[in-house]
Amino acid sequence: MATLQEPAAPASDRSYWGNVWHAVKSTAVGMGITFRYLWTKPFTTQYPDERLPVDGRYRGIHYLEQDLCIYCQACAKACPVDCIDMGAQRHGKELEWEFFSIDYQKCMFCELCVYPCPKDCIHMGEQYSLVTEDKSDFLLELTSWQGLTEEQKLRIAEAEAAKAAKKAAAAKAKAAKEAAEAAAEPAEPEEGKE
Ligand code: SF4
Ligand code: SF4
Repeated sequence: MATLQEPAAPASDRSYWGNVWHAVKSTAVGMGITFRYLWTKPFTTQYPDERLPVDGRYRGIHYLEQDLCIYCQACAKACPVDCIDMGAQRHGKELEWEFFSIDYQKCMFCELCVYPCPKDCIHMGEQYSLVTEDKSDFLLELTSWQGLTEEQKLRIAEAEAAKAAKKAAAAKAKAAKEAAEAAAEPAEPEEGKE
């Protein structure tokens, strides 16, 4: 049967000179460590001016390759918390972007939006700092531009010109075919002539 033991008696107090010696010795040991590290490369990272590299698989704030995106909304449909929203107008093959936003008040960095993308154009990046005092700052816009770029305007004009030329060629071919058919029909015999 276990019995309670008397607590150990405290170590006897050091003498005055013992305390002095202890203080001098511990200071010397501490300063020795300080001097040992004084000339070595510092480990300190001056965040936020400096940042340590993150792992390649880190799931940080998203980024979008807008020129590849086809506005299929597969990413938005896959998001379990409905925090992706986007708007664009289609002009044939071209997209006139209005917005593509993610609400980081809801996002849980699960990456489920990335996998269904057919163009592999939405990614989770290496940025992680979202420090703000204003909640509206958590609604991040991922588009690099809104509206149509000059290249897109040019491509739209070229596509419309090609479409008009094709339509005109088809109309011309139809008219030529009708004229050929009319010319090939036998002439009606005139009345009174056998
Ligand atoms: S990481 Fe998850 S929660 Fe965030 S936008 Fe993508 S699917 Fe939605
Ligand atoms: S799934 Fe990809 S291509 Fe489709 S809207 Fe999202 S980012 Fe764009």
